[in-house]
Amino acid sequence: MMKKVPSHQLKQGAARWLIFSRSKLLVASGDTQPPVTDASSLPFLAAYQQDVYQLTPLEAHLQEEQPTFVVDMGAEAVDSDEWEEVSLRNVLMNTPVGAFSVVGRAWQYVHFLRTHRFCGQCGSAMHKIDWEMAMQCQQCQHRCYPRVSPCIIVAIHDNERILLARGVRHRETNMYSTLAGFVESGESLEQAVHREVFEEVGVRVKNLQYFGSQPWPFPHSLMVGYLAEYDGGNIVCDEHEIDDAQWFSLDALPDTPPKLSIAGQLIDAVIKQLS
Ligand SMILES: [Zn+2]
Repeated sequence: MMKKVPSHQLKQGAARWLIFSRSKLLVASGDTQPPVTDASSLPFLAAYQQDVYQLTPLEAHLQEEQPTFVVDMGAEAVDSDEWEEVSLRNVLMNTPVGAFSVVGRAWQYVHFLRTHRFCGQCGSAMHKIDWEMAMQCQQCQHRCYPRVSPCIIVAIHDNERILLARGVRHRETNMYSTLAGFVESGESLEQAVHREVFEEVGVRVKNLQYFGSQPWPFPHSLMVGYLAEYDGGNIVCDEHEIDDAQWFSLDALPDTPPKLSIAGQLIDAVIKQLS
């Protein structure tokens, strides 16, 4: 979770600073990673001294080298040649897996606080409570927690072939990936796999095998990965989602996502399993 940092603690040495401005992250000019520094070298944060949060480690037994502080500047920007704003995707793609998780969590919390300023039940202002990561309405006591949206992602194989699709959003990059989609209310993960595969490419699958999961902070997905075997049907693409889908032989794969993403790891697992 994130806890408010008392202002005297801000003067106690270096911290990693995750400073969000709009949907971007502040880095020193020319850098790709958030600054590790003490508060005195961030004079533009003077106005935010009461709004600095510390991101607590996920595994409480792990001692971090330095604390991670999070500031949300909202719509404000820093007007200085020494600093620039970079997209989250950019930071995440250039980052080790551990830092990926830290930046991703911080962004999900910031996004949560920004989008839960008012109560969805009675419309009153909401306030962050300090003993757990939640926003609470003081009028009607409605409480909200950061949203996590489960999303299945599946690599479909058939003998020496793998089914990969190019989403409408990847038309320019020509990248082919595994199929993915949000789990609907009332649906199990496995039902979501069968439904999503049939909707997107018109084929049936069998022998689902759980692979692993990955939080994906755009803005709050939890990707749940499966391997599945082809069970029948011809490829028919849902034109709203999928530009093209094909069976690829493992020795002639198109451009695929990096292994940092669970999509890249699933494709790699199919290659290892079949070769
Ligand atoms: Zn309320």
